[in-house]
Amino acid sequence: MMYSLDGQTLDLRGEAGQQVLADIHRDPSRRPGCLCNPSEDGGVPMYVARIGDRYYLKRMPGSGPEHTPDCGSWSPPAELSGLAPLLGTAIRDNPDTGTTRLGLGFALTRHPGRDTSTDSADRENTDGGQTRLSLRSLLHYLWEESGLTRWTPALAGKRNWGMVRSRIQRAADDKIIINRKPLTEYLYLPETFSSTHKPEIAARRAVALQRLTDTSANTKLMLLIGEVKDLRPARFGRNAVIVKHLPDFPILADETLATHLHTRFSTEFTLRQAICDSHLILAGTFSLSSAGVAVAHEAALMTVTRDWIPFDTTSDHALLGTLDQQRRRYVKSLRYLVPAAEPVACVILTDTDPPTPCYLIDDQQNQVPEVQGPQWIWNTSTDICMPPLPPPASGIPRPTVIRANSSVARHRDASCDTAGPEYA
Ligand SMILES: [Zn+2]
Repeated sequence: MMYSLDGQTLDLRGEAGQQVLADIHRDPSRRPGCLCNPSEDGGVPMYVARIGDRYYLKRMPGSGPEHTPDCGSWSPPAELSGLAPLLGTAIRDNPDTGTTRLGLGFALTRHPGRDTSTDSADRENTDGGQTRLSLRSLLHYLWEESGLTRWTPALAGKRNWGMVRSRIQRAADDKIIINRKPLTEYLYLPETFSSTHKPEIAARRAVALQRLTDTSANTKLMLLIGEVKDLRPARFGRNAVIVKHLPDFPILADETLATHLHTRFSTEFTLRQAICDSHLILAGTFSLSSAGVAVAHEAALMTVTRDWIPFDTTSDHALLGTLDQQRRRYVKSLRYLVPAAEPVACVILTDTDPPTPCYLIDDQQNQVPEVQGPQWIWNTSTDICMPPLPPPASGIPRPTVIRANSSVARHRDASCDTAGPEYA
């Protein structure tokens, strides 16, 4: 993608490009323009964010729809997903500092004598009228920020946990939470397990979890994001969450939390059981006991396809499968805190002109909000078969090959992923 500043095209290649971005970053009033959309004079305004020791161009808050769908900075209107009510409330982008401040509705410190309720794992969190992110809506946000909701056929077979992990870590890098602390200080994503390197991995994990060994009066918590392998009864009346890539690090859960998970996320457990190549993703807070054993406090779950695209129902999964077979391009829309009775777009097709929001509704839901432009609606209560999808715009190749359903071939390697988030 091409960018300009003060009428000059920017060359952002290599280390010289990093220097250019560093210079712009020193003066937040300077706004480079993304030249993807010729109708935007001077380009769509962007800002420079520093993530780790690298600089990246990011879109200005609310400007995603002004880019073109083939631009990495494009995003559908926030109103099509559950994101809109959170922008400016629980999620505040600050282009002047290049950071995003998140209001969290769950605790990362536990004070003695004060109990935290497992119900906060996925309710609409409000505190003094202020909307806050639940564990599950934070998971949705990080998935979207990581670019994991964007799909093109070229990505087939290129995603695995190692790539998902690095994407989420990078997306979390410029996020600030309580007391202006970086989210990454509290976030733990297990690295890909290898029995050959088990001691080194355990040593790195001990360093990553150092915060939990603080001996102050308050219990320190961290946020784990990982793939759940099992939730099963452990000895002595406890339950254990077994996370993939953490085979030597079970996380104990008390009966209250285990019951809450089975009740609140029964759909997610059922989908994971029924669709054998899906993944069950956990976002949960945990601490270490004085004996060094991990103990879960709050948790939420999300089901994703074999390509790590989130889905909520079998109809949702069927639509994603059809899009996959037809080699379509789309952005998955996520629900965040929006209740199931309110329709949000399931996907937005990005290979139609203009992009087409696709809704899955049933008779229990309210009507799809009327918007300008095309829509595709599948009422799963009345239409047994999926209606035909709008065809892609001319110039975008239609499918010629349906991908083989081979998990061995699909997951050989995933070192790169071309669908980027809004990073240059
Ligand atoms: Zn653009």
